[in-house]
Amino acid sequence: SDSHFPIPISPADVDYSQHYPHFFPSERSDDDNGSVPPTKVRFADIGCGFGGLLVGLSPLFPDILMIGMELRDKVTEYVKERILALRATNPGKYENISVVRTNSMKYIPNYFEKGQLSKMFFLFPDPHFKEKNHRRRVISLQLLDEYAYALEVGGIIYTITDVEELGDWMRSCLEDHPMFKAVPEEELEADPVVKLLSSATEEGQKVARNGGQTFRAVYRRIMLEDG
Ligand code: SAM
Repeated sequence: SDSHFPIPISPADVDYSQHYPHFFPSERSDDDNGSVPPTKVRFADIGCGFGGLLVGLSPLFPDILMIGMELRDKVTEYVKERILALRATNPGKYENISVVRTNSMKYIPNYFEKGQLSKMFFLFPDPHFKEKNHRRRVISLQLLDEYAYALEVGGIIYTITDVEELGDWMRSCLEDHPMFKAVPEEELEADPVVKLLSSATEEGQKVARNGGQTFRAVYRRIMLEDG
């Protein structure tokens, strides 16, 4: 089913001006010819679902470009429409968020250069309970190599789930990976993004309505230590 969506051959192949027209003015004056570096996507919401996190984050960081990656076609189309409607009714706002339909387990390196991202989100990912399906989980030691590549040093990976076993799994993968280190609790309390993990996402709201528990793991991309 991958053949149904376009796959960029490299990050340079992605036309981000289509996603964020306000950040890519079509007419540039001659004197800034080449001197203005292109704005790059800095936040990625992996498996963004209906886009609640992007909509919540957008006004908090109006100058930062963010993208959702979603596998389901209809859901991706819904998010596109949702963003266009928000832009239409709030002129000048929500220009910094967009969505692509893709399989994030395969194509992260096609979208992001080394160290491009400052935040990655994995919110309420599908649990894949059976042992033989664990390889389908969006957090694994192998995939963390790719995420470490896309994240800048100091960048943060946010994960949350209502499935305790998956929460333990994600935490232990992050804990075991040499390029990630847990963000201290007091830092999490001061981070406005952390509050949105549950409150802004459709899945988080569902869990809250049902009085369910959540399990969070937030880790920072660090440099490999010598030796
Ligand atoms: N993050 C959203 C939230 O918290 O409301 C959605 C959570 S939903 C349970 C998981 C989402 O991940 C689904 O929309 C699913 O289609 C998407 N997904 C699953 N595997 C994916 C993949 N390989 N690439 C991109 N999206 C994927």
